[in-house]
Amino acid sequence: MKLVVMKFGGTSVEDPAAIGRTAAIVAGRVANGKSPVVVVSAMAKVTDQLLRAAAAASEGDRTGALAISERLRARHRDTAVVLVKNADDCAALLETIDKKFDSLDEILRGLAAILELTPRISDLIVSYGELLSSRIVTAAFRETGMDSAWVDAREVVITDSQYQKAAPIDHLIEQRAQTKLVPLTEKKKVPVMGGFIASNEAGITTTLGRGGSDFTGALIGGAVSAEAIEIWTDVDGIMTTDPRVCPDALRVKVISFEEAAELAYFGAKVLHPATILPAVKKNIPVLVLNSRNASCEGTRITSLAPPCKSPFKSIAVKKKLSIIDVVASRMLMTHGYMREIFTIFDKHQCPVDMVSTSEVSVSLSVDSNEKLPAIAADLSKLADVKYEGKKALVCMVGDDIRGKSGMAAQVFTAIRHINVRMISQGASEINMSFMIDEEDADEAVRSLHAIFFKDPDPAIFDVDARRG
Ligand code: ADP
Ligand code: ASP
Ligand code: MG
Repeated sequence: MKLVVMKFGGTSVEDPAAIGRTAAIVAGRVANGKSPVVVVSAMAKVTDQLLRAAAAASEGDRTGALAISERLRARHRDTAVVLVKNADDCAALLETIDKKFDSLDEILRGLAAILELTPRISDLIVSYGELLSSRIVTAAFRETGMDSAWVDAREVVITDSQYQKAAPIDHLIEQRAQTKLVPLTEKKKVPVMGGFIASNEAGITTTLGRGGSDFTGALIGGAVSAEAIEIWTDVDGIMTTDPRVCPDALRVKVISFEEAAELAYFGAKVLHPATILPAVKKNIPVLVLNSRNASCEGTRITSLAPPCKSPFKSIAVKKKLSIIDVVASRMLMTHGYMREIFTIFDKHQCPVDMVSTSEVSVSLSVDSNEKLPAIAADLSKLADVKYEGKKALVCMVGDDIRGKSGMAAQVFTAIRHINVRMISQGASEINMSFMIDEEDADEAVRSLHAIFFKDPDPAIFDVDARRG
């Protein structure tokens, strides 16, 4: 069977028109003899609004929280009414939506009474976004004549209990996918499930972390050994940089798993960082496609990078980072000193992105601001500590950067007007990154893009778009 997992992001299900396009794309795959499994995000911005409602309720703003819920209820109901013309189906869908919002309101009222928001309750509240969108999309598919079946993602994607960033349990997901998804596709049904949401083995709702629907798509793709995983979004594919920052960005036609993973980890929002792993394990190609421009061939992520004449494939930026400088004049070279520093980060469960050392100091970059005062307090028992927020990490990705001479000189010449705080080329041959002030980040990206993508290799980049 030609199973394909098709994941549609928030913008691809944001309103009736977008859901209509999504239905047509899936129907096209069915017409071509494929068996799609569909994974959808919450409608655009819904997750943020649910989190805002949860925060308001737990701060005692019951009215504000319920008002957000009321607006969301109206948006979901309106979308359902436009999409589902059959009176019985529409009434059934509206009833489901109302029941969901009634129970969400109950939880919000409870939160406003107890004034405490735990990660577990936060996951329960955000899960409504994907539960609702997947119900609406299933009904919309049926309306167009597709035989679709709603699947509760929480019965398929099983994780540990780290709320807000749960880790999948692969063998359980594989079992569940074989019993709950594959039989549907064998009956020629199109399963539709929410991304991002999951449950632990006790059945309590968890989530895979923000942007996690991509990850669900890849997990399901791996679990059913799909022939491809398609990530449908609102841009033509992985671009040479974020097109919102640099309108000249070009589509990258093909990129390796390794390069795509590096880009995702270093901030390219187009893919969730963990997405690639389940696909790599089974060597399943991942395609990034545009639901607003479905005829565009998108980006193909494959195991091996084809030869590319341009040094870099793409530039990613991760903002909201901090740098911590640990300065100790005598102790640095003493045995075990680095271990003590890292033990402190470990104790605070704070991952370190970048490290650079000199004889007297260690600088580390981390993507947490809240934990910094506590970490600095612990570190100050060892040495002098300074920390600064509002930093950005710019990461240039391309295969074999180390093999090409003069790259660092060209990169830093391109941004000579910008103050660089930390530099790393590290062990990875595919990434060169540096840390600057957040306010300089967009300008740095535009300068680098203008130089390194002036004459791009047409085998790898969609240069026709620029000519057109
Ligand atoms: P979805 O809701 O479909 O998951 P996201 O908003 O998470 O979509 O990701 C798509 C967005 O990622 C694009 O609109 C774009 O602004 C941003 N983006 C950042 N870096 C890149 C890049 N290198 N290539 C493409 N898009 C990028
Ligand atoms: N809806 C979730 C979020 O906004 C997951 C996703 O869209 O990937 O983070
Ligand atoms: Mg996303």
